[in-house]
Amino acid sequence: MNAEIIAVGTELLLGDIVNTNAQYLSRELANLGISVFYQTVVGDNEKRLLDAYKIAFERADMVITTGGLGPTEDDLTKETAAKYFNKQMIQDDESLAIITGFFKKHNFVMTNNNKKQAFIPEGASILPNPKGTAPGCMIEENGKLMFMLPGPPNECIPMFDSSVLPELHKRTDKVFVSRVLQISGIGESHLEDMLKDMIDAQTNPTIAPYAKFGEVSLRLTASADNADEAKKLIAPVADEIYKRLGDNVYGEGETSLAQTVAEILVKKGLTIACAESCTGGMLTAKLVDFAGVSKTLIESVVCYSNESKISRLSVNPETIHDFGAVSEETAREMAEGIKLTSGADIGVSITGVAGPDGGTEEKPVGLVYIAIARNGKTEIKSFNLPGDRQRVRTRTVVYALDFIRRELL
Ligand code: ATP
Repeated sequence: MNAEIIAVGTELLLGDIVNTNAQYLSRELANLGISVFYQTVVGDNEKRLLDAYKIAFERADMVITTGGLGPTEDDLTKETAAKYFNKQMIQDDESLAIITGFFKKHNFVMTNNNKKQAFIPEGASILPNPKGTAPGCMIEENGKLMFMLPGPPNECIPMFDSSVLPELHKRTDKVFVSRVLQISGIGESHLEDMLKDMIDAQTNPTIAPYAKFGEVSLRLTASADNADEAKKLIAPVADEIYKRLGDNVYGEGETSLAQTVAEILVKKGLTIACAESCTGGMLTAKLVDFAGVSKTLIESVVCYSNESKISRLSVNPETIHDFGAVSEETAREMAEGIKLTSGADIGVSITGVAGPDGGTEEKPVGLVYIAIARNGKTEIKSFNLPGDRQRVRTRTVVYALDFIRRELL
């Protein structure tokens, strides 16, 4: 089977947004052994969209669209598909009830054009959208298979996973099983280097790395006649990867680094407090994403100014004067200060130059110190991080979480 992805949206053509949906879908389809020979991007224009469908079905068995399912006039994906398949647009009552319920629940005013989202081409089946109002839909006719998914990635990806994948599995006699290893502490290129021979020789299971900021996920996917057989194919490959990567693997499946850290802290019965300067609370916010964090997080302080570092954390003014606010010495006193004043088992501090201003030759933008005070000892790491202000701060949080995780191992 081969597929074509059509991303619909003028915003994509103007370069206002990046086509990350196509990237995700292509990777997933490749994992399933489905070839994607073409990806198309087309604006919100009925004629050009219809042409794109015609061309795509001349060269692909299956078309997956993303975007253009919204309520406005220029959302045309389903309407144009109806035209292509010679179908009427009909109202799906169940979808309308869901959309109406959503507006009621959130006290939003529902306008008439919102009802448009409940219309689908006659004969299409609904793909539910638990993350938004616009349902997706699927049409299968004359050997042509079409899936229409919403544009926002947080709706498109779950819909693909929960509705499209099972449909694709039904159409093959093979079962696909995946295991996703979550990795921190090494970058994607380092990881690929460590696994190069395995990646080069991959067949079944496939080994696909996905890089996120400072983290990498490694998806192992095997196809077999049944799930047990597929799992058996994955097991030795996963074992070998664990052997090579060691404690760089922090978890498997639907977890995050922050969740892993919070879970280890809770399991060990340890409490934590953070003193954040350049990250302004981002580390704490990540920890708070985990619902059980109240068992471990005592408090956090955003101590941005020198005065706050001195008054709130008892950092010695001379330390800041002699070494600067971004220094190993200040990071140490911040971590020890937050540990002491909060009474937590672990005090974590972050101080750095996030930029774009404030860098010097000696202390360039991207220089970050992270300190962890625990058991009468303080460990400090420094990093020289690339990127703009937001990237430096995001990476700092990942590195801080990884540092805490390793301290707890
Ligand atoms: P909505 O119901 O939110 O209007 P929609 O299905 O009509 O959804 P669009 O209006 O086409 O989707 O896009 C909504 C948003 O989704 C865009 O502003 C953009 O942020 C994101 N988006 C759309 N297409 C893509 C894509 N291919 N890759 C990544 N993000 C996308």
